[in-house]
Amino acid sequence: MSKLLLKNGIIFDPFNNIAGEIKDILIEEGKIVEKFSNEKDVKEIDVKGKTVIPSAIDIHSHIASQQLSWIRLLGINNAKFKQGWKGLTSESIAKSYISNGFTFILEANVFPSLVKHTIFNLKQIPVLDKAILLNLSNYWPLELEFQRGMEEEATIFLSDLLEMTKAFGFKVYNPFEAENWNFQKLRENLSEKGRLYNFNPIDIYEKFIKYNEKLKLPHSIHAHIEGYENTEGKKNLNLLIEKIQSLDLSSILANTSKFERKQILHLAHASSYNIDGDNNNIINLLNNNDKFDLDLGFCGFNEINPLITDDRRLINSLQNNANPYKLFRSAVEFEGDTFATFRTFDKKNKIHCNIWANALDLALNIKNIWQMQFSINFPNYAMVEDIPEILTWLISKEARDDFMKDLNQESLKNHNLKNSNKELNFNDIVILSRSSPAKSLGIGFYKGNLGIGADGDLNILNINVNEINLSKEYKKLASSLRNIEFVIKEGEIIKKGDNFNLKNNGKLFWSKGRTKIEKKASVLNKKEEFFQKYYSIFYDTMKYELPTNFLREIK
Ligand SMILES: [Zn+2]
Repeated sequence: MSKLLLKNGIIFDPFNNIAGEIKDILIEEGKIVEKFSNEKDVKEIDVKGKTVIPSAIDIHSHIASQQLSWIRLLGINNAKFKQGWKGLTSESIAKSYISNGFTFILEANVFPSLVKHTIFNLKQIPVLDKAILLNLSNYWPLELEFQRGMEEEATIFLSDLLEMTKAFGFKVYNPFEAENWNFQKLRENLSEKGRLYNFNPIDIYEKFIKYNEKLKLPHSIHAHIEGYENTEGKKNLNLLIEKIQSLDLSSILANTSKFERKQILHLAHASSYNIDGDNNNIINLLNNNDKFDLDLGFCGFNEINPLITDDRRLINSLQNNANPYKLFRSAVEFEGDTFATFRTFDKKNKIHCNIWANALDLALNIKNIWQMQFSINFPNYAMVEDIPEILTWLISKEARDDFMKDLNQESLKNHNLKNSNKELNFNDIVILSRSSPAKSLGIGFYKGNLGIGADGDLNILNINVNEINLSKEYKKLASSLRNIEFVIKEGEIIKKGDNFNLKNNGKLFWSKGRTKIEKKASVLNKKEEFFQKYYSIFYDTMKYELPTNFLREIK
């Protein structure tokens, strides 16, 4: 029976409105408790003068997939990749995340028939807890539901799919773009109907919001907008904003507790849509509407970046610009296209500089920190090792002005960021990287939280943040974040100084939501028939028996 006592730490626990108070934290059998069941065998760590915060949570990453396996293959003879990214092995991914204080990561984009591959790889990432989002945006078995509404049938099918694949929620990504491209054509925008289906791609976002809320899943839909990093991204984003605002969604999400999400739509890597550098559309939307939230997508300008995407337009524009790297592409029957390649972010490239500045601009100008989450679209935009430096850009104008000197001044001269004096404080950073992602994912009861009953997941930083001026002494903060003294998961020390404890496996969080079971047999029979007729795999082959001690169902 393990018991851990952290004595006299400087605690930051935003869910419970604690910001810099001296307190003890007690963990017994993996959970934070008010007092121990008895005083026997208590391990004590004196954390006087040190800062204690919840562990970090990555709400948007690509850490286990067929595409990531391709990246490893593509990079096999690339020195920059092998050194800088340590080959992106499962163990190097785990160590990077743990070193930076993470205990939970979300793999944000997997086609249902490829989930087995993803879970196989996730199991090889030790210690960390994980979850998977299913990408069903091109999914032909849902065509009838997309055409005719049929919410009940859709939710019964979706719930079964989640249970079978042990996924956590839904990614909505360029609906039916793959189908469109079969005619070698990029559509103008998301309101253009396809040739093989008679619904509007933009309506898929609305339908998924309705299915998701009917199922009462922990997380909202997780949206990627077609044309990111291209001018079409902004047009499509604005179309979507207009569309969602025209719906009466006020009653769709009932009152929730402070540990649960408020949003019905999560926008992925929000830095990537306004490549002109003008973020007013997103800032105004979020400042007037709490039904939306977003992860920020910070850019780190690495020597080389893997690119894992399903976005056809981005791949076409990279090919047109003579990207020197090889490309893998796969079309997964009726589920969609996937791509993997490398690229390099360039400090002189206007679009790249705007993506960099956009993440900061959004973080500084959206009023409610709880509507945003830290992300680097890993590994697409930055390395986990870049996070301490990126956080200094938020906390110190001096730090970001210093970094900005090397960027394209022409592109930044009119950017909002250039004239902004705003700075976040340490508590904001804890919200952004820890508590807000937990809330958005609907797991705030357990994660991002140091209250009684939460998982004993936390970081001990060898710094007293109450005693230093972070805006000026940002390098001290970065160094304490770069060398987190202790990372603790469910009461176990998983990192102490340079030593890791990678014994445990971590859990796969999943949810099937809530649905009626009356019509289940007839709905699923039809789906099984559909697979038998039109697909090369049977519906049941997606089922994967997993040990119960690897799974954690969120209800
Ligand atoms: Zn992504």
